[in-house]
Amino acid sequence: MFDKILIANRGEIACRVIATCHRLGIATVAVYSDADRDARHVRLADEAVRIGPAPAADSYLRGEAILEAARRTGAQAIHPGYGFLSENAGFARACAEAGIVFIGPPASAIDAMGDKSAAKALMQQAGVPLTPGYHGERQEPAFLRAQADAIGYPVLIKASAGGGGKGMRRVEASADFEAALASCQREAQSAFGNAHVLVEKYIERPRHIEIQVFGDGHGNMVHLFERDCSVQRRHQKVLEEAPAPGMSEARRAAMGQAAIDAARAVGYVGAGTVEFIAAPGGEFWFMEMNTRLQVEHPVTEMITGTDLVEWQLRVAAGQPLPRTQAQLRIQGHAIEARLYAEDADRGFLPSTGRLHHLHLPAAGAHVRVDAGVEQGDAITAYYDPMIAKLIVHDSTRERALQRLQQALGHCRALGVTTNADFLRRLVMTPAFRDADLDTALIQREHAALEVARHAPHAHDWALAAVLAASATGTAGRGGSPWALADGWRLGTAAPRQVTLQAGPQRRTLPVHGGDGHWQVRLEDDTVVVTGTVGIDAFALQVAGVLRRGPYLYQAGDLQLLAGASALRLTLHDPVADAAQPGDDDSGLLAPMPGRVVALLAEPGTRVARGTPLLVIEAMKMEHTLQAHADGVVEGYRVRSGDQVEDGAVLVDFQAADA
Ligand code: ADP
Repeated sequence: MFDKILIANRGEIACRVIATCHRLGIATVAVYSDADRDARHVRLADEAVRIGPAPAADSYLRGEAILEAARRTGAQAIHPGYGFLSENAGFARACAEAGIVFIGPPASAIDAMGDKSAAKALMQQAGVPLTPGYHGERQEPAFLRAQADAIGYPVLIKASAGGGGKGMRRVEASADFEAALASCQREAQSAFGNAHVLVEKYIERPRHIEIQVFGDGHGNMVHLFERDCSVQRRHQKVLEEAPAPGMSEARRAAMGQAAIDAARAVGYVGAGTVEFIAAPGGEFWFMEMNTRLQVEHPVTEMITGTDLVEWQLRVAAGQPLPRTQAQLRIQGHAIEARLYAEDADRGFLPSTGRLHHLHLPAAGAHVRVDAGVEQGDAITAYYDPMIAKLIVHDSTRERALQRLQQALGHCRALGVTTNADFLRRLVMTPAFRDADLDTALIQREHAALEVARHAPHAHDWALAAVLAASATGTAGRGGSPWALADGWRLGTAAPRQVTLQAGPQRRTLPVHGGDGHWQVRLEDDTVVVTGTVGIDAFALQVAGVLRRGPYLYQAGDLQLLAGASALRLTLHDPVADAAQPGDDDSGLLAPMPGRVVALLAEPGTRVARGTPLLVIEAMKMEHTLQAHADGVVEGYRVRSGDQVEDGAVLVDFQAADA
């Protein structure tokens, strides 16, 4: 076995690999970018080496820098985690040349499966069932469109080099094909450096069922059953479970065998996943093989009582698989939920910032928490915005689901918006509860998942008004008492008018008093609030009921947690509001930091509301920004390729009625 390994990754997977190494008495080396100098994986590892600036291309994707770090620290092996260099055959070869073990399959197997088109050709030879489609060399738009016409709509265009749900476009009709193709190719080129695509039949109401396989260097190959990862949004997994609900023993055996055939066809060694798409009737087809550990591997570990990272280390060290197929059994049911820093109400836009407060459920026999961050850490725009994975296990699906609901109820954060509420609503939908699964579940349950953003009730408004008055009163503006807009004057205090907005509701509340005793006017009522407001937490009696918890006030944004309720309100500052042009019709702002990839309108032209104006790429996904009103595009302030900050003005836009 190894004495020391380097983990060429970050976030939860790096932390998770480090945990297994330490349990086995193996020393660990972390690598980090400038953005991750104080990251959790760096704190957990025995040693850490800086590998470059924040962008992944300058750090976590720099194979040479990582190999140099391994040489310098004397690490014998490199665990690539998932993403980054994990499926990079060139890196696997460079490790071998440097005499360092790459903890993954042989480079030839990565190559064979790395390209979706080439992999499909191989699988065809191995007799693995495939979805109808075109996966050849030709790429002319007219030719591909003719192929799509022949397959029959809807079709799916996929980047051959794609992964992580990126670089895919569903096309409904022949007329839409070429525009979708261009957009898919652009995203593929930018995310994977390769614009090659394939076209296949879009399977309606499919389930995503994948098989975990494992091979060793002694010719043994087993499968560790299936995972159902049907609950997805934008082709990205949100909830994963094992075993798949409704799976018969016969189908499990057939899929397991097909997965083993697929892996054997490429001489597979190590942990891999063969992904299938399954029709409602149970028929299944090969989609792709991921030649690495998957994000969702913990559900398999929970039902089989294994540690797949330990298996990876043993196999990489030349040992045989710890168990035979006959020794593997399914016990109970496990479900994983991915907790992300993202705003489900704003199209799941990643939410960046510092986690001023983070509370995750306690881990125990039934609950596992794989976290990449801790309270005080930042979620940056450079990497995947995952906060943690919650994995629950119990004897039945129903019981596991109850555990998941409870665990999600314990997730609270301040500083970034999380998808915890969204996940809570999702696991409570009848469709998920009754295991009526397919990849469109989230779209179909849209109504139930739409935030009936819980309207604050009267006493929440009073609580928020006192926090807002205190936060702005003490922080002031620039520290000068003359700049305070808190209604201070000689003699008796005048009420401070606090205007707060929660979702569509806006209220102006007069707040009297201060120093631990306030009165808030709420329509015909006066609510008395007493207690203390600290810089990041409060303990207040609101109309005689004690409410306490952390809060965060930043630039007009008030977030607070009080017991089970989480509130987020905007404070409208009359002075600041007056200083800004009205409902800002003058420009289109970047919703997040990213890179401009396309300018879509001609400067000087008149456009209708909803016209796409610009494409920005952030977190490897394209986001199209549209005109928010009818008007004239006066000009762009950015060029294709520019890196822009959150809130930067991108387009000068004159709304028609302005
Ligand atoms: P990636 O490598 O980006 O993960 P996959 O090929 O694994 O891409 O597909 C990801 C998801 O896209 C699948 O889980 C499934 O939901 C959906 N998908 C893929 N192929 C099809 C198809 N032919 N028909 C319908 N949905 C599909």
